[in-house]
Amino acid sequence: MTTTQVLRAGRRTGPAYGLALPFDLTGAPSARDLANGDWRLDATCRDRDHEWWFAKPTSARSRSAVQLCEGCPVRQQCLAAGLLFGEEFGVWGGLTHIQRRPLIARLLTGVPLATVLATALGEQHVVKFEAA
Ligand code: SF4
Repeated sequence: MTTTQVLRAGRRTGPAYGLALPFDLTGAPSARDLANGDWRLDATCRDRDHEWWFAKPTSARSRSAVQLCEGCPVRQQCLAAGLLFGEEFGVWGGLTHIQRRPLIARLLTGVPLATVLATALGEQHVVKFEAA
């Protein structure tokens, strides 16, 4: 099954957010913690116009959003949520939907989410989580 087919299958069974894709979460934030969204309280984008994060990826607004993400204290959780819940649009963790596609493809081959996050964001920006 392709990445797109997996994402579409998930969408058919219910709302995308809260419906976790079958990734290996060893060492990553739990699906429950990512879904409850408490991490968003510390987000750099919290009080900003969220349309920036859903602007056309080549636009100046989207580039500004990506720059703001670079210093966001919850970037790891944000990217993890975007990947785990198969977000098809917008910037999550500083990555556009196009940049997230190869990460989802790796996850679907069984690579743990924690490894994918460390590769995408750099080891120094990733906190290891205990199993829930
Ligand atoms: S990483 Fe970017 S999109 Fe995600 S919470 Fe932080 S500022 Fe918002």
